[in-house]
Amino acid sequence: MFSQLAKFRPGALAASYRDLLSGAWPDSSKLPVVYHDSYNIRFLGLEKLHPFDSCKYAKVLAGLQKQGLLHKAWTVKPRQATLEVLADVHTQRYIGDIHAHPSTVAQVTELAPLACLPMCLLERFVLAPMRYHVGGTMLAAALALERGWAVNLGGGMHHAAADRGMGWCPFDDIVLAVRRARAAAHAADAASAGTAGAAAGADPGPASTSGPAAGNAGAGAGLGAGAGAASGPVAEGTEGSSGQQGLGSSGPGAGGRQGQGQGQAEGLGQGRGQGQGQGQAGERIKVLVIDLDAHQGNGVERDKLEYDMADFYILDAYNEGVFPADRLAKSAIDVPMPLRPLTPTATYLQLLDRALERAAEQLPRPDLVVYNAGTDVLEGDPLGGLAVSAAGVIQRDERVWRWCLETARCPVLMLLSGGYAPESAAVITASLANLFRTFRLGMAPPAGE
Ligand SMILES: [Zn+2]
Repeated sequence: MFSQLAKFRPGALAASYRDLLSGAWPDSSKLPVVYHDSYNIRFLGLEKLHPFDSCKYAKVLAGLQKQGLLHKAWTVKPRQATLEVLADVHTQRYIGDIHAHPSTVAQVTELAPLACLPMCLLERFVLAPMRYHVGGTMLAAALALERGWAVNLGGGMHHAAADRGMGWCPFDDIVLAVRRARAAAHAADAASAGTAGAAAGADPGPASTSGPAAGNAGAGAGLGAGAGAASGPVAEGTEGSSGQQGLGSSGPGAGGRQGQGQGQAEGLGQGRGQGQGQGQAGERIKVLVIDLDAHQGNGVERDKLEYDMADFYILDAYNEGVFPADRLAKSAIDVPMPLRPLTPTATYLQLLDRALERAAEQLPRPDLVVYNAGTDVLEGDPLGGLAVSAAGVIQRDERVWRWCLETARCPVLMLLSGGYAPESAAVITASLANLFRTFRLGMAPPAGE
């Protein structure tokens, strides 16, 4: 099952995540499910101002606990992402703004009354919780690479981009997580190769751009597993981003696993990419974001463009008739799945199957899928505008996980993202329960039920 898809041995990435985890690196007494009580926002009735159920995370945990599938003690507790961590993707100006001006917080959360509150309250009750979500997504990405799967019981703030937040999304946890995972993978490979390059790895120059494939395959850390089978194909057919570098440029000649030829050191030279002091180019884990939240994931898409991210692919299913309709961002989508308002379950699932097929045919095989599993596709959701049934959401999630397991053969990281209907938490719970049972994700027998 999923554990066989792990790309790194347990603990291989730990050294790169010390700032995001308190305590020891999770061993087999924990599941790769990340959660912190601080995810839930309860404050002066704030949670009632926005249709977003800002306490759904605790409800999901409680629901799974009730079924004996998960215990809080089995979850992994993240630390919040510091401002320094955020600066790997976000501009200093934006970080400063959102932490200093209530009006910015009000704008990003779409809660106008927040503009009247003192910053200290917003920091404690809004921004800190959001930074916990970010820390959770980042940590969960590492766990997915080591365990074959992971779930952050939160996260998925796909509207936030480097220089702005919107739609209740202050920080781009997805791109932050991917950049850190790549740096961590690079460090792990360097460490495991035991070369002097480990120390020098901070600045992967041209030499290391060719490293990834070879390095991974050989490295004891593990990326090699299955990597060789990658369908190199490539992506002519994709609608690539402007500034398109990752896809076509790599294919020819390289022949193997991926864009060996591409010289672009994604994220380098941007002045902000200080994560771990690592550059990004050395490792380049190939990532596919499958964004099935009802809204276009424009923040992640903009950051893909901003950072010229190579080997970072996006399948995005979104309701064409609702926010944010971001045309520029759309150019970063590799497999678009635009949906008409009120798309019903059967159509939705058919289109999803087709989109996944296209991803398999057109994109290189990913090393990690980041699955943004927003439940605002549910019929009746006040913001999503689609009409997928609860059973349809459960099927959707299972199909994506099965695709990762059987077709992409790569680890999956699931994020909860949006979901504004009152039954959202219950549907997430039912779907996760189904995934736990179908793919036997629970604790090994000795740990009890
Ligand atoms: Zn949404």
